[in-house]
Amino acid sequence: MRGDFFPAESPDFPRTSRELLHRCLESGRLRIGEILLGRDFTLRHLSDEGCDELEIHRDPHSARLIARFDAKGEFRSLKSAPDLKRGWLLEAGSLEGMELALGFIYPAALGLLLSWLCGTLRPTPLPETLDRQSGMYRITQLLRDDQALDLIACRCGEGCLRTVLWDLEPESTVTSLPAARRTLDDFPADRIPLLCREACNLLIAAARPIAKGNLPKED
Ligand code: SF4
Repeated sequence: MRGDFFPAESPDFPRTSRELLHRCLESGRLRIGEILLGRDFTLRHLSDEGCDELEIHRDPHSARLIARFDAKGEFRSLKSAPDLKRGWLLEAGSLEGMELALGFIYPAALGLLLSWLCGTLRPTPLPETLDRQSGMYRITQLLRDDQALDLIACRCGEGCLRTVLWDLEPESTVTSLPAARRTLDDFPADRIPLLCREACNLLIAAARPIAKGNLPKED
């Protein structure tokens, strides 16, 4: 499975995020999330492929602002949500610039993939993440599995582009997501995956009101 990306025994196996990006460009993995990468170090929205009338940016730091708001001007609290705005072309100018820009749009995406390729990425099962919660989020520990599955289908399945690598329990997979959203088996050869190694803060926050409903009713 990992070897389908870049065989670990190969002498040019990437050792850094930048080398990984270089290998992705070389091997034709030019799509990541909603972004299309160009071998000329350009980035644009996938749906803008072939569009000529795009707003040109040349500073990789522009990606920070591009990723901040959706097309309606609403703040994007989840960077991997499928609501990246269109209409721009970022000419990053170099591999380093492209890596920087990509880091603003999909934070840690390359680092997580590199860690997975090296076999060092350890996904955290959901109960372990919930057990770590304190204060107002401690109550999420009351979330039932059926509620978690529904929540994950909605928030991670429909509202996010990441591949969910964590499970409900070590032996209990997230069955409310299709296999293509929880494993990298048969991952498209022209794409760079966005990985999720543990439930994010937004998922935990969404779990809170649901778990709160599990409190025993007072007479
Ligand atoms: S838990 Fe992971 S997959 Fe789910 S919404 Fe958060 S970042 Fe996306």
